[in-house]
Amino acid sequence: WRGPSERLFEGLNPQQREAAEYRGQALLIVAGAGSGKTSVLTRRIAGLIESREAWPSEILAITFTNKAANEMRERVEQLLGGKAQGMWISTFHSACVRILRREAETIGKTASFTIYDSGDTRALLKRIIKELDADTLGFTVGGAANRISKLKNELTDLETFARSANLSDPQEVMFLEIFRQYTRELRRANAFDFDDLIAETVFLFRAFPRVAALYQSRFRHILVDEYQDTNHAQYSLIRELTMPVAPDIVDDLESHGRNVRPLRDAAGVIPSASLTVVGDSDQSIYAFRGADIRNIVEFERDFPGAKVVLLEQNYRSTQNILSAANAVIANNFDRKDKKLWTAVGDGEKIIGYTGYSGHDEAQFVADEIEKLHGAGMAYKDIAVFYRTNAQTRALEEIFIRSALPYKVMGGTKFYERAEIKDSMAYLITVANPDDMLALRRILNTPKRGIGPATETQLASYAEDNGLTFRAAMRDAASLGLGPKVTNAILQLSGLLDEAAAKIDPSNPAGVSPVADVLTFLLDGSGYIETLRNSRDPQDEARAENVDELVAVTREFARNNPDGTLVDFLTEVSLVAAADEIDDSSGAVSLMTLHTAKGLEYDAVFLTGIEEDLLPHRMSANEPGGPAEERRLFYVGITRAKKRLFLSLAMTRAQFGETAVAMPSRYLQEIPADLIEWRQSPGSANGRGGTQSRALNARRPGLGAGSGGSGGSGWNDSLAAAPFRQERPKAEWPNRVTGKVRDNGDLELAPGDRIRHADFGDGRVTQVTGQGAKRVAHVQFEKVGAKKLLIKIAPIDKL
Ligand code: ATP
Ligand code: MG
Repeated sequence: WRGPSERLFEGLNPQQREAAEYRGQALLIVAGAGSGKTSVLTRRIAGLIESREAWPSEILAITFTNKAANEMRERVEQLLGGKAQGMWISTFHSACVRILRREAETIGKTASFTIYDSGDTRALLKRIIKELDADTLGFTVGGAANRISKLKNELTDLETFARSANLSDPQEVMFLEIFRQYTRELRRANAFDFDDLIAETVFLFRAFPRVAALYQSRFRHILVDEYQDTNHAQYSLIRELTMPVAPDIVDDLESHGRNVRPLRDAAGVIPSASLTVVGDSDQSIYAFRGADIRNIVEFERDFPGAKVVLLEQNYRSTQNILSAANAVIANNFDRKDKKLWTAVGDGEKIIGYTGYSGHDEAQFVADEIEKLHGAGMAYKDIAVFYRTNAQTRALEEIFIRSALPYKVMGGTKFYERAEIKDSMAYLITVANPDDMLALRRILNTPKRGIGPATETQLASYAEDNGLTFRAAMRDAASLGLGPKVTNAILQLSGLLDEAAAKIDPSNPAGVSPVADVLTFLLDGSGYIETLRNSRDPQDEARAENVDELVAVTREFARNNPDGTLVDFLTEVSLVAAADEIDDSSGAVSLMTLHTAKGLEYDAVFLTGIEEDLLPHRMSANEPGGPAEERRLFYVGITRAKKRLFLSLAMTRAQFGETAVAMPSRYLQEIPADLIEWRQSPGSANGRGGTQSRALNARRPGLGAGSGGSGGSGWNDSLAAAPFRQERPKAEWPNRVTGKVRDNGDLELAPGDRIRHADFGDGRVTQVTGQGAKRVAHVQFEKVGAKKLLIKIAPIDKL
């Protein structure tokens, strides 16, 4: 054996190389951001396969997002110069779904089980809480959902919880009842919620050692990225997968035709798989979801004899960015000090900016992005991060107005739109007829005269006769309902049966593609027609979204020629926030700090660096909350390769009101000489930033020189007060005329010539969309093609 070829390790530093080449049972790589942890994992996998130490199918690599998984797969295949089929590179959730679909019958489900996302979970809990009148005891949907999620992440199932619950406490009794009903409903619906996916896989392995052995013997090399963010359930899953297989079970596997003989040692045991984990405790940002840093701290105890490798060179960021990150994180107690350094050089200073409002801040971001772009940086290499999704609104408004191409990651929530959920519910009921939640969602959508009373009747008929809701629908004729209602139910039932036949593998006509099933359902139910015929302008956009979903199913079929409806539903339910990132799109990426983990961009804008946002106001009540928020800030800073911008606003519209905001305490932790303030948090004086000076000039009482004079916090919060009254709504004046624009009535057609305040003259090539969403595609003479929202763009027809 000669080991992997030299080529695979090209460019690695000695520590990285040591980690990539190590061949022991357990390896821990701990290192700060950008030190090449993920890169080393990738090379390790490639090395194992290239040297034939492992088949691709013996590799299980766990990443934090599906996007990260795809990237890793591509990198490995690139290093190997060919496909590596059978390799499992996926998130915890995807890996568990695959296992559960294969083994569903063992635990009393069918392979077509539904996966409930947090919206489904909440819908179900809402009904349960209402039926139990639990809100009178102070129960909220969010509170109950969180608590159930926590229990599952700690692998506490209903029975275990019931045994330990304090039954003299009425609150506790009520929660137990909620938990019980929730569990029962999931079981009856043949569904798992998100947390179940991991927990149930662990329970499956524990209860059925033979099933566990299938995977323990299959995966010989397990690698986990972002190990600092594993929770107890995920940790337990890794422990289960890295157990040795006892001789009697090995025999059993062999007698069932699995050739595992070569894996046995002298004692007949299949030794445990090798485990590599990489992580950075400074980047642990999911404690609120039960992630446990101790998993990394205690790795050496859990896996005795583990090798530990430290990486100290950062390859991502400039020294200025790195120094800021190091200075911030040094304020967290209880951490091992890491000395990250970089050979890249100081680079540019970090730019700081204080806006008067979220809009002003957004304008700064947009302006700076255009400057970067003008200087040759591609939009796709630029990202804007924020702590809360609500912050996107101001950013989006300004970006649209500036015709700046952008994409919101995880914020668009395409799959959370009502019309998409409706359409998906149709598909789900076909794949999994037991899914009562989905069935009840479409029962009267579109309206077909089946009211809530009928729905309740159907539900209790099902309950009384030990039937599923679906079966009760087929029995509608015997419920004594009126003929119209009965007919409506039977019609829907028939439609669903017909659709089910289309995906039945035993259908002699063959299985229909998902897109066909979907259009069949949308047409047959009248759903799409109702949207199209509606006079509500919103419905038009909804119909477009549904069309988009049909397009998604088509695309799915192209990418997965053998993909089934269940595969499609699985894919959709696992779309994690970061998955929508499409590098080829040529757009600026907007995302929350949580979504940003593991990614990197040439230029990064960290916005809303204010108290109550970062640290978030909720974190104050959590033990360790502010420290976790600081890690989040650290994660954000360390995503930047070349340029970093930190911005904040003096007033922030939040929770429906505009309030004075304070600079984040973390800002003071960055050495002053690293930041160049365009407009500092201590003074409202514009020092540069032409945009803001122009704004000041227009704003009574806020002209240049009216601000305070340094110190901590806003000295001029009073000066900011008039601004609050001045602009309570999200209206923003045209940057040229100072008036609020509304081109709602402007007629534009291909061929028209227009003049834009910033882009100059151009010719309209196309007009798409309707009403307030009409978009002009314009070919400008100087700046090329742009898309403009006609209603608000600063344009005039020539
Ligand atoms: P994070 O903690 O943010 O997840 P990481 O430790 O996983 O970061 P990587 O993403 O693997 O770091 O690497 C950061 C950047 O440095 C990547 O662009 C990677 O290609 C580059 N890099 C890593 N190692 C080297 C090396 N030895 N030589 C040159 N570039 C490297
Ligand atoms: Mg990484």
